[in-house]
Amino acid sequence: MLHSDSANTPAIEDMIEAFPLPTLVISGAGTLACMNAAAEVRFGKRALGRHLTTSLRHPKLVDAVELSLLDRAPRKVSFQVVENGNDVFYDVHLRAIAGTPLLILSFQNATEVVLAEQMRSDFVANVSHELRTPLTSLMGFIETLQGPARNDANARDRFLTIMSGEAERMNRLVGDLQSLSGVEAGEHVRPKTIIDVRDILQTMLSNIAPLAQDSGVALRCDLGEIPMQVTGDSDQLIQVFTNLVENAIKYGGGGDQAVQISVSVETHDPVLRGPAVAISVSDHGPGIDPIHLPRLTERFYRVDSHRSRQIGGTGLGLSIVKHILNRHRGRLKVDSQLGEGSQFTVILPSA
Ligand code: ADP
Repeated sequence: MLHSDSANTPAIEDMIEAFPLPTLVISGAGTLACMNAAAEVRFGKRALGRHLTTSLRHPKLVDAVELSLLDRAPRKVSFQVVENGNDVFYDVHLRAIAGTPLLILSFQNATEVVLAEQMRSDFVANVSHELRTPLTSLMGFIETLQGPARNDANARDRFLTIMSGEAERMNRLVGDLQSLSGVEAGEHVRPKTIIDVRDILQTMLSNIAPLAQDSGVALRCDLGEIPMQVTGDSDQLIQVFTNLVENAIKYGGGGDQAVQISVSVETHDPVLRGPAVAISVSDHGPGIDPIHLPRLTERFYRVDSHRSRQIGGTGLGLSIVKHILNRHRGRLKVDSQLGEGSQFTVILPSA
């Protein structure tokens, strides 16, 4: 859309119409001369012919446009605005069109890139923090064993037991980080093998039986008689159910409370929009306050960090579950009330 007073080169209008990014042309007088369809969506047709300050409200951007109108130098401005209550980050490129008084501006929404970078640096900070705690403890004990406790056989045995626990914690964390990165790397490759969920659960149950026994938790499992086929990666699905049942034992076990594993077929899952297999793991533990539920599958998110660390949690188990289920086009549903236990349900499309 070209504003008749401000530019006399319809060719520019055709050119910018081919750009997918919102693109504006500013006249030498600082008015909005023309814009492509993508810019029209963002700024509205009424901005045409008006001075740039009425539509480009960000002071950084207005300053850059005014400078480029004067010195004709190309510029890039990055700024942040709030749109519909969300932070949005823009990179705007400014360039003078040679032989004309015009200035061309293209708007790139850089929000995803900025947020990905923020997530990456948060992740590195979290991993460093998680590793630092056991490492500091190990270093402290090594120093003590080299110094004051050098000849104290009792202290040495006690400290070595603690050190071995700390080293195991680091080992678990590194193992979970490797699983997570492996799962993320293959998340876009759909599994191809048709498997029966009941076979997966049988394998998981025999792997986890020793932990359940040591923790004094009974596992009740009703697998039914009907085959329940899904297209999946056996090892990854075993990991999903192992993580969920391990959590049920760790957080929900205690006393003589049992953990119940149930399987059912759904003729139509409203979210997956098709037939599905639902596998639920229920415990009678303390439950989870609903305010935590939306964030539960974030990496390193824990309801009670102290308790999680105390029982050997890495804070990555449910995040691994989420990524594996994404790869399987499945979903995780969590139902929990404080004081009433928790139910984690995995829903997978039927094969
Ligand atoms: P963690 O290694 O800390 O167990 P997860 O990602 O497996 O990490 O779980 C994240 C958090 O979710 C846990 O720290 C715990 O607070 C909560 N949680 C998971 N499963 C249960 C459960 N069955 N009952 C109560 N809280 C749970």
